[in-house]
Amino acid sequence: MTLSVSSAFDGGNIRLVAIEGDRVDLEIVKDHMSDFYQWFYFRLTGAAGREVELRILNCAGSAYPHGWDGYNICMSHDREEWQRAESSYKGGVLTTRVTPSADSVWFAYFAPYTMERHHDLIADAVQHPAVEYRSLGQTLDGQEMDYLKFGTGKLQVWLYARQHPGETMAEWWMEGALEKLLDDSDPVSRRLRERATFHVVPNMNPDGSKRGHLRTNAVGVNLNREWHEPTAERSPEVLYVRNEMDKTGVDFAMDVHGDEAIAANFLAGFEGIPSWTKEQGALFDAFSNALVAISPDFQTEKGYEIPAPGKANLSMSTAQLAERYGAVSMTLEMPFKDNDDLPDPVEGWSPDRSRALGRSCMDALWAILPDLEKPKR
Ligand code: ZN
Repeated sequence: MTLSVSSAFDGGNIRLVAIEGDRVDLEIVKDHMSDFYQWFYFRLTGAAGREVELRILNCAGSAYPHGWDGYNICMSHDREEWQRAESSYKGGVLTTRVTPSADSVWFAYFAPYTMERHHDLIADAVQHPAVEYRSLGQTLDGQEMDYLKFGTGKLQVWLYARQHPGETMAEWWMEGALEKLLDDSDPVSRRLRERATFHVVPNMNPDGSKRGHLRTNAVGVNLNREWHEPTAERSPEVLYVRNEMDKTGVDFAMDVHGDEAIAANFLAGFEGIPSWTKEQGALFDAFSNALVAISPDFQTEKGYEIPAPGKANLSMSTAQLAERYGAVSMTLEMPFKDNDDLPDPVEGWSPDRSRALGRSCMDALWAILPDLEKPKR
């Protein structure tokens, strides 16, 4: 059988450069109307029992070249279980040698979360009697912006993920968080739903997800740089969500992401916003400490540099929400590689671990709920 490579499916991304013998040379395709690229997802056929060398040639020009050091490619035969295949990065080329056990095998930057799976997630969630579904509007490609609302409490909690569509771990996290929040046998969730109202956007960027983008929407716009002035032409996704937030207010918010380079789970906060207060900062720290206590997969040593007072980037959602609504808002970053403090050599960071962290985050929210409920100064 001859080797063949394809990516013409939901979330797919690759360009075949050449196949010579057992060597397959590939390139990642840029996001449409943008220079960002790093996400890939493709299928290799005809390689059963044969050692093949896969080389991704254009890694040096990708969005985060440091993401390839210590990174191992994700591989699956059944598209359920994704295991890591040992890879090496040298001279801008990511190389992996594998011997597939079947004539059809799949490779990706991280376990994919397709739009088809997203529709399954929404279909499952709306079965729960507490869940109110609404489309906040349509994207530039004509997909619905799916929004779920549940709970009856005063505290307004917003959870949203995947502004950067290639960060698929963010929607795996959502699956875990929703699973927990809608579990009627979980006492924490029952109380959370009494004392808070949840607003959930499991996928902020359906167009980028379907197109196989790393970081942008259908017109090459990075949605997490639009929150100060979203427009219908460039960033309707943000415009819809921010308009809804203006109606509900926001007390607590999590924006869920993945980080290419840092092999750890960490939070980024809203230090540096003009209206920053000690009380607001203390609530962020309280959540962070609660999560450290609950999940050994979370830590606070590794992460991004904290912006100086007044230097926050208000085009990013976390800073914008903290400034605009006085929210305790945060960006959660999960690794593409692994959590180096608690590594898993078979799967690396994975869908199951992302889901588990989603559940842990809801437990941490429960832990600080009394503090969040205190009136703001
Ligand atoms: Zn991101």
